[in-house]
Amino acid sequence: MRKTALVTGGSRGIGRAIATALSHEYNVVINYCGSEEKANEVLAECKKNGSDSMIFKADVSDAAAVRSMTESVLEKYGSIDIAVNNSGITKDNLILRMSEEEFDRVMDINLKGCFNVSKAVFKQMLKQKSGSIINMASVVGEIGNIGQANYAASKAGVIALTKTIAREGAHKNVRCNAIAPGFIQTEMTDVLSDSFKESVLANIPMKKLGKPEDIANLVLFLSGDNSRYITGQVINVDGGMVM
Ligand code: NAP
Repeated sequence: MRKTALVTGGSRGIGRAIATALSHEYNVVINYCGSEEKANEVLAECKKNGSDSMIFKADVSDAAAVRSMTESVLEKYGSIDIAVNNSGITKDNLILRMSEEEFDRVMDINLKGCFNVSKAVFKQMLKQKSGSIINMASVVGEIGNIGQANYAASKAGVIALTKTIAREGAHKNVRCNAIAPGFIQTEMTDVLSDSFKESVLANIPMKKLGKPEDIANLVLFLSGDNSRYITGQVINVDGGMVM
């Protein structure tokens, strides 16, 4: 029987690549917040791959909405085996100019969203005595970044949350790992200026940006049995940028 994977922010970018990759093996729940049309496109792709998938609209920062999403998933499939906390936003500004709202919204979606979803799936995974939670961090959460006080702090928080969930779940075979992407080509990075991208490339030993599929490949590995003895880790996918 196919296992069930929940991917938050599965409508675009990295989440879309993750949902599509998982759909060859898992029934995939494609969470989205605003991009319904794009979520439906991903749904069609997943179905083509033989997955009994569904889309679900929920703002991950809203704990009640997340709870009702996981209840619906359990009603339909009876288990949640993989949860990929991929939803994320940026609201960049230098710290002196960063508003409280900019700080709070990024923390609410990137960090609290990750907490909300992890908490909502954790009880079921403990009961199943198996599960893999995969959290999208960022290299910025390890080394900081000018103009991203909110984002960097949220991703550092995701790393700490990952290690805590890993410790709390290990005795019941519930694993939790984080992926720290470097610069991946998506709408999130498309908005950056060419001169900024040039300066980023100068610091990437492999001299190229990553693709969403580079992240999806690692998610596939961390979801399955080949990674059964790996938990509490942060794995960089960054062309050697941080080492
Ligand atoms: P993206 O193209 O901007 O896509 C972001 C996704 O998050 C969308 O599917 C969006 O869904 C969803 N999302 C936003 N707010 C949400 C909310 N409140 N509730 C639920 N979903 C929400 O971003 P990306 O580049 O693919 O990034 C994906 C993850 O990787 C993020 O956590 C990001 O921080 C991380 N990351 C990216 C890079 C990079 O270089 N791209 C580097 C390091 C880390 P809707 O459109 O439906 O709202």
